[in-house]
Amino acid sequence: MPELPEVETIKNELLPHIVGRCITGITLFWEGIVRQPSVQEFCSRLIGQRITNVARRGKYLILGLTSSEVLIIHLKMTGSLLIKPASAEPTKFTRAILHLDKETQLRFRDPRKLGVMWLVEDKNTIVGKLGPEPLEAGFTPQLLLKRLNNRTAPIKALLCDQTFIAGIGNMYADEALFAARIHPLRSGKNLSPEEVERLHSAIQHVLWSAISNKGASVKGASVDTYLRPGGELGTAQFQFRVAHYISGRLCPVCGNPIERIPIRNRGSYFCPRCQAL
Ligand SMILES: [Zn+2]
Repeated sequence: MPELPEVETIKNELLPHIVGRCITGITLFWEGIVRQPSVQEFCSRLIGQRITNVARRGKYLILGLTSSEVLIIHLKMTGSLLIKPASAEPTKFTRAILHLDKETQLRFRDPRKLGVMWLVEDKNTIVGKLGPEPLEAGFTPQLLLKRLNNRTAPIKALLCDQTFIAGIGNMYADEALFAARIHPLRSGKNLSPEEVERLHSAIQHVLWSAISNKGASVKGASVDTYLRPGGELGTAQFQFRVAHYISGRLCPVCGNPIERIPIRNRGSYFCPRCQAL
């Protein structure tokens, strides 16, 4: 699933192609992609608008429009946004096309059809409940410590909870916990201030590093792979130390086999020696 670094990369790479551009038409191959309002209203309200801005909040992309409404997009498990010339044939997994002026198209590609779009007046109706942004100045070790107070859930589950902290999912939670040497099942409230400081720094480090590598395309040549807007793959997966390990991989620090345990139905990868309970 695209997480913060992937969505941030998509935002950065879409910006020069779509800001200032006018939406001239919409083609929906899968109407279920429009969550709000009705499909008809979605199309009639969007057509004729100019895109004024592209922002990210957590794993959501937020496109500002001249009407001051916003188009919010969540890519879920397998969504990508691709910039294509109008002359290119849509492919099998193209679910929606935003036709832009100058013969350009913004295409929503989504093999598993889980991605969603909303057109709303107030973005907070969709993103208002998200936790703090981990790369913003307000996210300090003190804030993280405060938010962990009384939280009994496993730290891995908290890191993946979008209302606790925005943008982190399974891959970057595993990477951050490994870098901070914290077992994924530790209860949030039991982390020491020193561990919280390590975790804070690890979160920022793994996210920035993944952004500089344009996100992670972990599934290689599979149709479900994350793609950048130009269709390229990200390379952040090559920096991963535990996330999405292949069976039998050894810890890059101590040589112990990496283990996998289920936490809230997601596989968590960790080194039982470096991240002892
Ligand atoms: Zn280890």
